[in-house]
Amino acid sequence: MQDLYRQLGISSEVYRYGHEIEASLEERFREFDRRAEYNQMKVLLAMQKNRVSAECFQSSSGYGYNDYGRDTLEKVYSDTFHTEACLVRPQIACGTHALAIALFGNLRPGDELLSPVGKPYDTLEEVIGIRPSRGSLAEYGVAYRQVELLPDGAFDYENIEKAIHEKTKMVTIQRSKGYQTRPSFSVKQIGELIAFVKKIKPDVICMVDNCYGEFVETMEPSDLGADMMVGSLIKNPGGGLAPIGGYIAGTKECVENASCRMTCPGLGMEVGASLGVNQAFYQGFFLAPMVTKGALKGAVFAANVYEKLGFPVVPNSTESRHDIIQAVTLGTPEGVCAFCQGIQAAAPVDSFVVPEPWDMPGYDSQVIMAAGAFVQGSSIELSADGPMKPPYAVYFQGGLTWEHAKLGILMSLQKLLEQGLVKL
Ligand SMILES: *Cc1c(COP(=O)(O)O)cnc(C)c1O
Repeated sequence: MQDLYRQLGISSEVYRYGHEIEASLEERFREFDRRAEYNQMKVLLAMQKNRVSAECFQSSSGYGYNDYGRDTLEKVYSDTFHTEACLVRPQIACGTHALAIALFGNLRPGDELLSPVGKPYDTLEEVIGIRPSRGSLAEYGVAYRQVELLPDGAFDYENIEKAIHEKTKMVTIQRSKGYQTRPSFSVKQIGELIAFVKKIKPDVICMVDNCYGEFVETMEPSDLGADMMVGSLIKNPGGGLAPIGGYIAGTKECVENASCRMTCPGLGMEVGASLGVNQAFYQGFFLAPMVTKGALKGAVFAANVYEKLGFPVVPNSTESRHDIIQAVTLGTPEGVCAFCQGIQAAAPVDSFVVPEPWDMPGYDSQVIMAAGAFVQGSSIELSADGPMKPPYAVYFQGGLTWEHAKLGILMSLQKLLEQGLVKL
C-alpha cells in the first residue's frame, strides 16, 4: 500500500501522519455509514414506489412532450424529499440558474426578498442585483434586504422580525457556508428559522439554497417547512453521474411558478426534452447517498489533518456536519495555491496540470480552482477552490469515493510540506 502511495507522490512521513488521523475517526465514519444507509433506503423506496423501469431511461428530443422518464424522475425526487412537486432538468444549467429560476418565477415587481442569514452565495449577488447587473431582480423592481448573522453565527431573530413587512414575499436561506467562514446550518436550525418567519408572516415563501446539503442528514429542509428547496446536479444529488442539471423541489404552486421561468409562461414544465440524460440522473440519484458519504468522510479527515497542524478549520475536527464543504484557512496566497495544486495532482483527470488563480465570471476577486473532474466544474467530485483574498481560506469538497478524497488531502499536505509552508 505504502509503495503505491509513494508512486502517487506521497512521502512515508505524510502517509503515516494520515494513517494516524484516519485511525482516530472510526466512530465518526460509522455514523456517516448509518446515515447513508437511511438515505439509500429513502431513495430506493421512492424509486420502487414510482415503478422505475427500463422505459424511464429512454431519451426524448424536440419539445420533449410526455417524457415518461423525466416525469417519473421528478416524482422520485418529490417522494424522496417529501414535496408536492419537483423540476429535475438538464435545461437548468447549474445551481445559480436553478436559484434564479426559483426567484424570478416567484417574485413580482414591488416584492421584497429577504436573506435572514447574511450575504448569499457570490453568484447570486448579480442575480439579485446586490452588485448591479444586467437583468437582475433589482432591474425588475424586486427589492432585497438582508439581516446579518450574529457574531457567533446564530440567527438575529430580533432584527429578522423587524425586517419582515407587508412587501416581504420570499425568504432565502442558504444552508451551506459557500465562500464564507460562517458555520453551515443544520436542517433543524433551518426548520426553526422557517417556523419563526412563518409565525410572523404565514404566506412568506421560504426557499432554501440546498447546494451541498443533500443527503448529509437524514432530513432535508423540505421536511421542516421549506416551500422550495433548490440545488445543483453536479453536486450531491447527481451522484457524480449527472453531466449537467439542477432541481427545484417544493410546493406545486412554487414549482409551477418556477417552471414558467425555466421555459416560459404557458409552457411551464411540460416542455423540455431529456436528451438522453435520464439514466445518468436516475443512477446518480441512486448513488448520491453513498457518494455524499465518501465526501463527508473526506471533509472530516481534512478537518482533522489540518486542525492538528494549527490551521483554523470550519467546521472544526469534531463538529457535526451539515454540508460537504470543508474550509481550511491557510492564511497566505501561497498556501491556497499549494493546497489546490495538491488536490489537482491527485485527480484522475488532468492530474498533470497546475491550477492558477483567474478572474472567474460571477466572482468579485480572483479564484483558484482545482478540479480534475469527469464532469467540468463538478464539485461533488474531488475539488478545491479559494478566492484570492484574506483570510486566504480554501474550500474543499467532494470525492466520488472516500479513498480518493483521502489521497487528495494527503497530496495537498505533501505540496504544503514540499514548499516549506508546514512542518510535520
Ligand atoms: C454551488 C453553489 C451555488 C451555485 O451553484 P453553481 O452550480 O456553481 O451555479 C449556489 N449556492 C451555494 C451555497 C452553492 O454551494
